[in-house]
Amino acid sequence: MTDLKLFNSLTRSLETFRPLHRGEARVYSCGPTVYNYQHVGNMRAYVFADTLGRVLSFKGYDLKHVINITDVGHLTSDADAGDDKMEKAAASQGKSAWDIARHYQEVFEADLRRLNIRPVQHPKATDYVEAMVAWNAEIEGKHAYRLDSGLYFDVSTVPDYGRLARASTDEGEGRIESVEGKRHAADFALWRTTPPGESRQMEWDSPWGRGAPGWHIECSVMSAELLGHPFDIHTGGIDHREIHHPNEIAQNQAHSCGPDSGARIWMHNNFLVDRRGKMSKSTGDFLTLQALVDRGYHPLAYRLLCLQAHYRSELEFTWEGLGAALVRLKRMVMAVEPLREVEAGGEHPKFAPLIDRFDAAVSDDLNTAVALTALDEALTMKKVEAGAKRAVIERMDAVLGLRLLEVTREELRLRPAAATIEESEIEAALDRRKQARAAKDFAASDAIRDELAAQGVEVMDGDPLGWEWKL
Ligand code: AMP
Ligand code: ZN
Repeated sequence: MTDLKLFNSLTRSLETFRPLHRGEARVYSCGPTVYNYQHVGNMRAYVFADTLGRVLSFKGYDLKHVINITDVGHLTSDADAGDDKMEKAAASQGKSAWDIARHYQEVFEADLRRLNIRPVQHPKATDYVEAMVAWNAEIEGKHAYRLDSGLYFDVSTVPDYGRLARASTDEGEGRIESVEGKRHAADFALWRTTPPGESRQMEWDSPWGRGAPGWHIECSVMSAELLGHPFDIHTGGIDHREIHHPNEIAQNQAHSCGPDSGARIWMHNNFLVDRRGKMSKSTGDFLTLQALVDRGYHPLAYRLLCLQAHYRSELEFTWEGLGAALVRLKRMVMAVEPLREVEAGGEHPKFAPLIDRFDAAVSDDLNTAVALTALDEALTMKKVEAGAKRAVIERMDAVLGLRLLEVTREELRLRPAAATIEESEIEAALDRRKQARAAKDFAASDAIRDELAAQGVEVMDGDPLGWEWKL
């Protein structure tokens, strides 16, 4: 097998993956803040993390993967001012912050399953507050200072702060809102003390008063507890390269990592954008996976849309693009239908170069777009034993996660939420239309087609995919 090369944001270059523990790969991915639904941009980050995990499994590593749940601490800006996202959502929805967190975590996990993202560990930040307090207490003497509003990390106490972002300390990476008394613009909260006379729904005792942890400390603590420092790979969206991950690195350095960052390789996926720019939660105007489903698009079509782009490129979301991905997925599913009942087994020399190409593509910084072309060729390969073909498809799909051998054509034809007509009525109308056509009564046949069109059903005569109609 080819060496696995991954793009390390720390060095801004491709590096060969060498695990720290023999035969094992340990990965930490920054997870969602659960104060709202995840949008499909957020889900791109987890399709990417899942693809990385699947490629590591394909390369033979035992995978230990953590995607945390941020259920406390994240403010409405990445800096230290603004409201707590959880508390704010709780206030506006008239629910407790704990209920809000539980609800959005459940929806998130359901979305992961719909996208066929493999289950991994999902620790919650609120379960690690004690460990965060202990960590903060350990580094306070040399690396932090107290203000009325909490405990702050002094970024001048660690070597080379911000090297991941390629920013200099004094610029503070464009931090807009500042906190009174901070020594450097880039200093950040390790603990946010609840102001006198106020209370939070989520708060804990600490040497710095009752309050809540800063946002960045949770990932240092959970990655250290669950994977040990240093570990192999840390992932997140590209926005995390600027503030969150430099701050995690600073905390790790202060705690036990010396000049090292805590992870060997830092990887970042680029944004899903639309015409207005980055899809973002805080604007409140975004698409959820459910919104795609409501319009009749299967979640796996979105997964395929993500895989068609390189994770380091921006991906523009359009309905046309999603529609094209769905058609491509349908074609793939049709191509494997004859293999459903076949037992995988045997080999065929024609497949060997395809497997090599597939391996080379995913080993080249997860180039799934090229890997998909190897899969396409395998799917259309003629004059090969079905068992050998099935074995190859299984192997490739274990990496791509499209569930090609399980999902059926019928499952891919989702019913849009706004549709009023029942499938049985459509089938009945189409039967009547067939009879009309057989009798060469084209006026009647066209009338039936128009009636269906008025109800949002498109009749697809001679559809090469054999779908016949689409809602
Ligand atoms: P959040 O819940 O806001 O902390 O974001 C969860 C994950 O989604 C983080 O890794 C973000 O970097 C990532 N993310 C946020 N917006 C986008 C987007 N438009 N495209 C891709 N990834 C995103
Ligand atoms: Zn994080």
